Amino acid sequence: MLNNLQQQPADALLALIKLHNEDPRADKIDLGVGVYRTGDGATPVFAAIKQAEHKLHETQVSKAYLGPEGDMGFVHALMPWIFGKQDPSMGGRIDGMQTPGGTGAVRLALALAKRAGVKRIWMGTPSWPNHAQIVADLGLELKTFAHSTADGVANMDAVLGAIAEAGADDAILLHGCCHNPTGIDYSNADWDKIAAAIKASGVLPLIDLAYQGLGYGMEEDAYGLRRVLGEVPEALVAYSCDKNFGLYRDRVGAVYVMMADAAQVNAALSNGHALARAAWSMPPDHGAAAVRIILEDEALVKTWQDELDQMRERMLQVRARLGAAGKQGGVDFTPMGSQSGLFSIVPLTGEQVLAMREKHGVYMAGSGRINVAGLTMNNIDQFIAAVADVTA
Ligand code: PMP
Repeated sequence: MLNNLQQQPADALLALIKLHNEDPRADKIDLGVGVYRTGDGATPVFAAIKQAEHKLHETQVSKAYLGPEGDMGFVHALMPWIFGKQDPSMGGRIDGMQTPGGTGAVRLALALAKRAGVKRIWMGTPSWPNHAQIVADLGLELKTFAHSTADGVANMDAVLGAIAEAGADDAILLHGCCHNPTGIDYSNADWDKIAAAIKASGVLPLIDLAYQGLGYGMEEDAYGLRRVLGEVPEALVAYSCDKNFGLYRDRVGAVYVMMADAAQVNAALSNGHALARAAWSMPPDHGAAAVRIILEDEALVKTWQDELDQMRERMLQVRARLGAAGKQGGVDFTPMGSQSGLFSIVPLTGEQVLAMREKHGVYMAGSGRINVAGLTMNNIDQFIAAVADVTA
């Protein structure tokens, strides 16, 4: 029986980590997997997390089971940051539950949509590859549209066309900020149009917010999400703390539902609890508890915000250098200067990506996606020269 299981390709990006580790070249550059790196190439534990973990270590008296909803103190402490400090639950219409990372949140949001009767998911492409994998694994139909244009800006005609075409059984999955893999976000004016179009069409919005604070700031990066939720009766939100608290392997996320009526929230979430119970029973506690401790402590919030500001500023610095490089070889770096978050796409062919790796020791995804945080003031010129060389 089990020999019916056919060999599956390794996850390309995770395989790249291994290749990079095995490369003996001292000047190799890792622009593969999406983790933040300092100017020295490190991905350190946040000081705020270290302090929160210390407090957790000192005060935690039990590791007995929580429920499938996880740490609701964590889930609620995040809400003012996501939905706004004025009325974070929108009059009791929003509540959520903890999930294993943003991946668990996307999985649960899509499974909830399916349980509610959604048949098709609309999504701009390219997207985070796991989006399509999860949609397929759940047996949902994927409908795609082009996320961006050849000029490196968001394709508004495509997204508005998709929203208009979407039917009553459809949901649309949108990246709240720091689009993965393109770095091309909707402007605030774009979000205003998208929110109005979603309101008019009745399609169910699912906003994936995995990089809040890594684009322009915690408030700024929530603009689109808040704008859409302000217009519609119902929505799903998948959230990750793995980037903005640097907790990647601790798997910290949450899923939120917004209902038309506050009285409907518990029924909707009880489906989330049932789905979680059947999949992972309950989420891992540690990272979410550390986030809760930070968010409940003014001094720790300040430490965390300062660290997040530094990360963002470093990425803006790298982007400024990229943008200023202009056209080099066959690639125009200018649009990367104004893109947002960890990622951008360098328009290279598969062979050119391979040549970047083999000839120049530059590791990037096959799609040409780069993790901008892998660039430093010491290696950026080498990277640009390598691109110029392979595209000459
Ligand atoms: N959504 C998007 C758009 C992502 O890029 C990622 C992570 N790469 C996730 C969700 C999931 O993040 P996590 O590591 O928290 O599972």
